[in-house]
Amino acid sequence: MNAPQLDALVASASQGVEFDGLSVAADSEEYRVEIPGERLETDEAGLRAFAEENPWYVSNWYYWTRTVGSEGARYAFLRWIEDAGRPVGERYEALSTGVSRTWGQLRVSATIGEDGKRRYALGHVDDAESASLDTYSDPLAARELVKLDDRGRYRPLSTAPTLPTGWEYPNLDGEDLVRTVDFIYPATVENWHREREGELDVTHFREAAERQSGIYEIVSQLSVEELEAAAETCCVDSQCLKRRQWDEDEETDLDVPRGDGEFPCREPCSLFVTAARKFVTLGREEMRSYEFELTPTEKEQIEEIIDAVAEGRTDEIREADLNEGANRYRARYLRARRMPDGELSGTSTYPED
Ligand code: SF4
Repeated sequence: MNAPQLDALVASASQGVEFDGLSVAADSEEYRVEIPGERLETDEAGLRAFAEENPWYVSNWYYWTRTVGSEGARYAFLRWIEDAGRPVGERYEALSTGVSRTWGQLRVSATIGEDGKRRYALGHVDDAESASLDTYSDPLAARELVKLDDRGRYRPLSTAPTLPTGWEYPNLDGEDLVRTVDFIYPATVENWHREREGELDVTHFREAAERQSGIYEIVSQLSVEELEAAAETCCVDSQCLKRRQWDEDEETDLDVPRGDGEFPCREPCSLFVTAARKFVTLGREEMRSYEFELTPTEKEQIEEIIDAVAEGRTDEIREADLNEGANRYRARYLRARRMPDGELSGTSTYPED
């Protein structure tokens, strides 16, 4: 607590202060001050002495009401980080060593600074123990920082679990923290807050599909079975860290896990709509019967390859691990044996051509 904070509290007493267990009221020269377990009726000097003995109540009040200011998404998010439902003393003790929360793949930490000001650090959850990280302070830099994944591939979906590692923002104030998070995961704080307030405006798939125009109009032709397969393809936790809150429509839930993410998804995103368009096109093809000659192991190997590609595991499969069906040598051998002229088992895709 510093002198301006205490002066501000004394000046506010006539309007009444009620915040995080601190209560102050003034009636002419008389002051009433209260914290959990203690109550005092006194004059201004007594109020100031009481505040000196319980400085964290004053600096806490000042930080939230004057430094952070108006209540809203930013305020709620910063309060959530330090679990502000706890008593002030307990919170300050925890903040003295640092408290952390996970937001997608971000690790957000808060510590107590001078006169109750909070300082925030932001980085990748996997870098919590890492000593050699590139440090940043400009929130805008985050936009470039997260464009590519650790393998240098463009990330078309900001909330895909492919956030690159190796960087940190070690010292941010609350405003810059939220700005930085917003560059990394756009609108997640705002939508999380809206959801907590019961104000999240969800746009379900059929409504979103109706709004499409041009080449995307056809997404409305997706059947519910195809829509569920599409949601399972794009929206589950292994692919996207948002928690899907939209369904087919208001009455029809999709039978697909929504995900456990902290922040909600309020409508099908552009990546989903693009994928849905492709799925509609694929679904228009007529089914055909083919006959293939494969050994049981080869059939299982094809299934393992599809599985490894779908789960993005191909890079994890060691070249020397020939027990893995999706091993590169195993795949090359299968191709040499069963696709000598480029078609599986020598079976033509379009025999009539
Ligand atoms: S539509 Fe699916 S993939 Fe797109 S942001 Fe929402 S949950 Fe993620």
